[in-house]
Amino acid sequence: MCGGTAETDLDSFEEVSLEAKEGISDAQEENQKENKESETAEEENQKENKESETAEEETTTTVLEKKIFWGATDAKPEVYAAEDVSQATIDLTVEWVNKAISYWGNYGPLEIWIVGSGKEETIALDEKWCEVRTEKDPTWNKQWDCANGDPYESGNGWSPFYRYITDGGAAVSNYIREDIGYYFNALIMSSKYPGPEEEDYKPVVLHEYFHVYQQTNLSIPESPDTDGDWRTSNRNVYFNGGEVQVPFLMEGGAEYMAQYWYSMESDVDSGYLRRVMEYKAEAINPYLNSGKSLRELGYDEEFNSYDILTWFVAYLIHNTSEEIFRVDFWTQIENLGFEKAFEANFGKSADDMINEFDLWVEQPINVLLEIIP
Ligand SMILES: [Zn+2]
Repeated sequence: MCGGTAETDLDSFEEVSLEAKEGISDAQEENQKENKESETAEEENQKENKESETAEEETTTTVLEKKIFWGATDAKPEVYAAEDVSQATIDLTVEWVNKAISYWGNYGPLEIWIVGSGKEETIALDEKWCEVRTEKDPTWNKQWDCANGDPYESGNGWSPFYRYITDGGAAVSNYIREDIGYYFNALIMSSKYPGPEEEDYKPVVLHEYFHVYQQTNLSIPESPDTDGDWRTSNRNVYFNGGEVQVPFLMEGGAEYMAQYWYSMESDVDSGYLRRVMEYKAEAINPYLNSGKSLRELGYDEEFNSYDILTWFVAYLIHNTSEEIFRVDFWTQIENLGFEKAFEANFGKSADDMINEFDLWVEQPINVLLEIIP
């Protein structure tokens, strides 16, 4: 987390992973080739950026804006896996990222990083990270944003991947900051919680990709950290109305979208989504007893905050439509800001909607489940 960017997912109950592996497969070789190609393209982009910056300097004295790509793209995601990750796991991960792209569109730049379980292999992946970063962005801060210190043994230090071999989980880190020269999203999967052999791995990949979609719809770079708190960011104001990162619609949205779209896959049984939501209903009573507002819930509550937030998004969609939530709301927050975009799409303020939800969600579970498709 000292890596310099806020991670969208801080939980450990979403995860992924892989197994032991043979040598470099054809697919990996192909990936490497593709990476080479796209790196060349990036070099050209950087050249273009250089040129346009120079032009701007000549024509204007106002603040220079960096033109760094972020948003809808035709580029394929790049894939980097530790050597102890199996080809089957790489293929599975790419397959579900591609499904997410087919559902919601292709956004980036996106890098998929897959961590295994071995320490040496993970350290090698840390090194690969630094190599990729400095190749793409000569201004990359190697001292702080590449592995440093000794995170694996003494715990004193940081690396992008060390925590995944013990904690497992999955995450998306969004690198769109004023002080870097190349913006990108890193979608990280690991080998447990869930592992690639678990059904959960698939909706978790979808969940993480939805974060990429959410984040790439906001093109305003993160301002430098002035308060020393990595959880605060000017970008959070667009996502929840306040500076401090809270799960709220980021997590409720990613989780409901992942489970809803997963449930529509032809080989998933028709009772899947109701089962998932019934399980998530266990968070309802502890949430109501907590007296907290949904938009104040943190990552570490005594109940699973993601679960009650997923119910809130189900409720929003029941009252409007999936498309209004997924497309209209998320694509309007940059122009309208959080509160106005919320009200424009859902018909009332977020606080009023939360109050309405709190009354609705007190009903028996069989009544609540009637809204789940
Ligand atoms: Zn998440």
